[in-house]
Amino acid sequence: MEEKDILQLLKKSNALMEGHFLLASGLHSGQFVEKFRLLEDPVATGKIMSELATRVEKYDPDVVVGPVTGGVILSFEMARYLGTFAYFAEKTGDGGMELRRGFDVKGKRVLLVEDVVTTGGSILKTADAVRENGGEVVAYALLVDRSSGRFAPKEPVEALITLDIQTYSLDECPYCQKGLELVKPGSGIAKS
Ligand SMILES: [Zn+2]
Repeated sequence: MEEKDILQLLKKSNALMEGHFLLASGLHSGQFVEKFRLLEDPVATGKIMSELATRVEKYDPDVVVGPVTGGVILSFEMARYLGTFAYFAEKTGDGGMELRRGFDVKGKRVLLVEDVVTTGGSILKTADAVRENGGEVVAYALLVDRSSGRFAPKEPVEALITLDIQTYSLDECPYCQKGLELVKPGSGIAKS
């Protein structure tokens, strides 16, 4: 799959919407990502993850780990294609991430997966949790990198799509100036 095919799939499933959106931050944007329009569809998600798997199998991971919530699904799908087990990391009370449920990464090569990376907070905290438990982070696999270069860990990063989504304040929004109807999307955008 080429980038244009992947973009088309994201648009077709409405995971990537175009229009005029009011973000949780109060800013306006012409694009909006709702990853669960993709992740709710096993066939489309499987297609995307098989493509991502072909790009990261060279890192030869022993296990795949993703942060809740999207990362649970992505980890499971990725592990299916790589023939490994799938673990996930959960939020701690103080804003970190941790491995629970007996997920054991000690001495293992770990591939981290995430759906949409904006600042990379969740996935980097998941990486910390993996290292604290004796695992080695070998690479990151992302569906969408919309960090505009802010996400730059020392390990390799494979992103299927890189998006540079512009945001605007009310008085400089080009979509307001065109008189486009403003839509408030159903769920949060301010996710890392
Ligand atoms: Zn606007």
